[in-house]
Amino acid sequence: MKYDDIVDFHGHSCPGTAIGFKIGEIVIEKFGKSKDEEIVAIVENNSCSIDAIQFMTGCTFGKGNLIFKDYGKHVYTFIDRKTGESIRISLDKSVQELMEKFKAKREELPEKILEMNPYEIFTIKDVKVKPPKEATIYNSLRCAECKELVAEHRARIKNGKIVCIPCFKK
Ligand SMILES: [Zn+2]
Ligand SMILES: [Zn+2]
Repeated sequence: MKYDDIVDFHGHSCPGTAIGFKIGEIVIEKFGKSKDEEIVAIVENNSCSIDAIQFMTGCTFGKGNLIFKDYGKHVYTFIDRKTGESIRISLDKSVQELMEKFKAKREELPEKILEMNPYEIFTIKDVKVKPPKEATIYNSLRCAECKELVAEHRARIKNGKIVCIPCFKK
């Protein structure tokens, strides 16, 4: 896996993609790439780093093995469903601190980050985390108002009719 592939996918090179690339390397070395849902990622932010993580590890939003918690923290937990092994990776230095450390501009940071030993920027711990339930395929129902399809578990009842959440809220 090359960093340039990430830049291609994400659209630009930035501190986030470099941080995500370092995390991806750690995860692939430990668990390998997740073809199905065997590895689960729990990410606690929605920054640029998540694109690198999805691309490299195969933990993706679409497959349901990337879980987003909106905590604004650079914390990333990975769980192997088969072995139950989990690691928690947290970023120790903010982008501002890294800029000061290297006396570098923001656009110079990705290269600096890529050269670093991961233990200089991350705390990596073995943890015990229960994996979430595997993704299920739900039946689709048709919303009585907008006539669009909606997954059964997200459908609502309004005046005795099945509707989608946007129509329910209207
Ligand atoms: Zn970016
Ligand atoms: Zn609707």
